[in-house]
Amino acid sequence: MNSSDFKEQTDNMVKRQLKARGISAETAEAFRKVSRENFVPDESREFAYSDSPLDIGYGQTISQPYIVAEMIDRLRVKEGCKVLEIGAGSGYQSVILAELGARVYAVEIVPELAEEAQMRITDCQNQLGLDINLRVGDGTAGWPEEAPFDRIIVAAAAPSVPEPFLSQLKEGGRIVIPVGNRLLQELKVIIKTEEGVRALNAGGCRFVPLIGEYGWSGK
Ligand code: SAH
Repeated sequence: MNSSDFKEQTDNMVKRQLKARGISAETAEAFRKVSRENFVPDESREFAYSDSPLDIGYGQTISQPYIVAEMIDRLRVKEGCKVLEIGAGSGYQSVILAELGARVYAVEIVPELAEEAQMRITDCQNQLGLDINLRVGDGTAGWPEEAPFDRIIVAAAAPSVPEPFLSQLKEGGRIVIPVGNRLLQELKVIIKTEEGVRALNAGGCRFVPLIGEYGWSGK
């Protein structure tokens, strides 16, 4: 498969999986700029644009394009927003967020995945000049040195919303996070206002578990 085939697959994915299902034009446009085939293992490149998650090793997955897009739409990212991203995984979502003008602070708990993600992110930064900072560690503690954040996006399933996320979120900010048990969750949008914290449900979903101090205990 050559790069013009991937270009065509990208266009089809954006049209059929994102726009046709109601993803905003702005979010969809960011997906057009990022080569998803570079974020999956070599043996999966030909499936990079399929409408499903894919294994990236260490029991983890790169999320289905539509779910990444839906979460980002619900996050309402604006140019210059400071975004905490938990579960960088392949780094794909980090790059899409930065494409939308976010200043991204990404945390990944599996060192090997973080190392691979960092290489891909560096490649994209060299081409596109994106603002992404990645560190290895337990993201359930947030990133206190960089708090507060305008937005927090969590790509792994939590038993409940970790307290550090609420305290590290600015007033007027939002969190998008799957909350539930290890197998099935509800996608929640948490909004922090002057009057307190509101939570909206945005539908069922299925993510790998968020492991750590404020998440699930290790496997
Ligand atoms: N957005 C990523 C999704 C990766 S899956 C992508 O599209 O590639 C979720 C990731 O969360 C996994 O890589 C997993 O290792 C990571 N994870 C689980 N618990 C974590 C924690 N406490 N802190 C940081 N990352 C965590």
